[in-house]
Amino acid sequence: MDTEIDSNFKLDEELAIQQQIAPITASDVADLLDSKIVIAGANISDVAFMETMLKISGFSDITGVHDGEGVLANLRQGIRDDICDVDLIVLDNNLSDMTAHDLRLIMDQFSEWRLIPIIALTKESQWDAAQLLTDLGHGVTSLHYRPLTAESFPPAVTTALAVKKERDLVSQRQMQLEDELATLKVMEARLQFSVTHDDLTGLSNRRRLEQALELSLTQTLNFNTSSALFYIDLDSFKVLNDAEGHEAGDTLLVQVADSLRSYFSTDDTLVRIGSDEYAVLVDNIDEHSAMDHAEGLRSLFDGYHFEFNEHYYHLSVSIGVKIIEGKNESSSGEVLSQANQACFTAKKRGRNRVHLFSLDDKEMHVLRHSVKWAPRIRAALKQENFLLELQPIYALASNSITHYECLIRMRGSDDTLYYPDDFIPVAEAMGLIHQIDLWVVNKAFDLMSQMPSDISISINLSGNIFLDRNLFPLVEKKLAQTGIEPNRIVFEITETSAISNFEQTKEMVERLRSLGCRFALDDFGAGFNSYSYLKHFPVDILKIDGGFITNLINDPVDQLLVKSMIDIAHSLGKTTVAEFVENQSTMDLLKSYGVDFVQGYLIGKPQVYLPNP
Ligand code: C2E
Ligand code: CA
Ligand code: CA
Repeated sequence: MDTEIDSNFKLDEELAIQQQIAPITASDVADLLDSKIVIAGANISDVAFMETMLKISGFSDITGVHDGEGVLANLRQGIRDDICDVDLIVLDNNLSDMTAHDLRLIMDQFSEWRLIPIIALTKESQWDAAQLLTDLGHGVTSLHYRPLTAESFPPAVTTALAVKKERDLVSQRQMQLEDELATLKVMEARLQFSVTHDDLTGLSNRRRLEQALELSLTQTLNFNTSSALFYIDLDSFKVLNDAEGHEAGDTLLVQVADSLRSYFSTDDTLVRIGSDEYAVLVDNIDEHSAMDHAEGLRSLFDGYHFEFNEHYYHLSVSIGVKIIEGKNESSSGEVLSQANQACFTAKKRGRNRVHLFSLDDKEMHVLRHSVKWAPRIRAALKQENFLLELQPIYALASNSITHYECLIRMRGSDDTLYYPDDFIPVAEAMGLIHQIDLWVVNKAFDLMSQMPSDISISINLSGNIFLDRNLFPLVEKKLAQTGIEPNRIVFEITETSAISNFEQTKEMVERLRSLGCRFALDDFGAGFNSYSYLKHFPVDILKIDGGFITNLINDPVDQLLVKSMIDIAHSLGKTTVAEFVENQSTMDLLKSYGVDFVQGYLIGKPQVYLPNP
């Protein structure tokens, strides 16, 4: 007898180890006592004996049957919502109507039945473990032979049930994960649509245009063709909008979109870029045809009258044309800004006209601007006429200010303050931006050493700074000099600035992170590829672009987008900051979305930092 028990336990033990089951605890056993067990055997008293043994051990839901049909009837009855509630079958292979193997074949046809564990019994004289295992296949968890003993049978039942429970948990978790992934995918798809379309007109939006421009850049480069980008601005939209109200304005915008749809082909990319600005990208067109096309469009609108409340408005458009030839272009953003400049020139020259972009225009523009600004920037660098203002960032979890963002200002000769939009573009164009960035890093560390040690600071970096060999040694040196904890330093980069030097930027980001500094992806969502950057850039923090926040309480699309950005960021283990938070209701809404930090005029405007005396 002893040897029987031993051999049974050994088999159970091995099976348990094979299935990587943790030791069964008393509370696990208690949970298992409600399991549904079917006992099948031709001999009525054997079945009754087994039922009794299990009842004494505490099991409550036991059904005894005497043939294979009886087992199948229980299996059929047990199915609810594609799940079978039978947890275990104890099967004596002496059934009159079918062999254990026949039963197995039937059970295999239904995936829920296939996974039900079986304890197989046979007579000692017919003991052929190998044969039984082949007959019963994967479902069998242990083999016993009659007569059964009270020492070996109930523990075998418990083990088999524990195995099943574990497996059910694993597959449940797997299903849950699949569900979560599917939800995330639906969310992303929804996001993709609202991210690339304009609600009012149904035309594509700026992000979609940037994607299409990327394709055109590649295509014109590789196939030596040219494309054209038309930038179209309605000349007197504001007059109409102010006089007749938004409803009239919206109607006109939709009508213009319809006219564009009928004038251009379905292959062209039609976009509403701004409130009354449209763009159309046409591939495979040369300069001559593009100008003809633009002229046709201009005259189409020139003869157009818009009627509202019996008032008639004469409409006209200014059109900027940019010819795209891959070999001459640097980026989609540049192409768009050149088309915009051409449109601006068309407007300045009297409206209702077409202007073709030429490099000379742009150079003239930057040059004119830089003539004034470049010497000012150089002087400011020399005379320390730059200063940093700090804007507080508020942690919702601790209800306290935990960060400040450094924002640079330039002091003019008459003490006026100039803001970054005035001088950063020129500094970039004139190659002065590196010096500015290094100045800011240096200054930010000096400020930090006067601040409490639980405050972190964010430093904006321009994209090109990663090409500068001085940045990394400077950060290393300042960390050593000041003894500041590296994780108190957050560098902010925008995806647009990172795009141009993707590899170098990524490498530098990784090096600075290896020092312990953190990174934030600034203006998140404003670019067209934000989600893929999030995947590829090792950033810790995601700063949702202020453009999504200013009108958040009134704009359901922004709400959907912001909510998804926060969810996706969190599922990637990143924290989120919302900028441009200007009022309490916006903050409350963001809080309900689970955003981690808020920044904006509600919390505080950027100010010069004065340490407590
Ligand atoms: P950013 O990094 O997105 O900075 C946020 C801008 O929004 C700042 O403008 C800030 O003053 C403004 N702002 C903050 N809260 C609110 C709000 O509640 N409502 C509104 N409407 N605006 C708010 P600022 O200082 O003019 O900076 C503009 C941009 O210039 C910055 O955008 C950043 O890209 C760049 N910049 C600023 N400082 C530096 C710097 O030190 N180095 C570099 N490379 N770029 C900088
Ligand atoms: Ca920033
Ligand atoms: Ca920003």
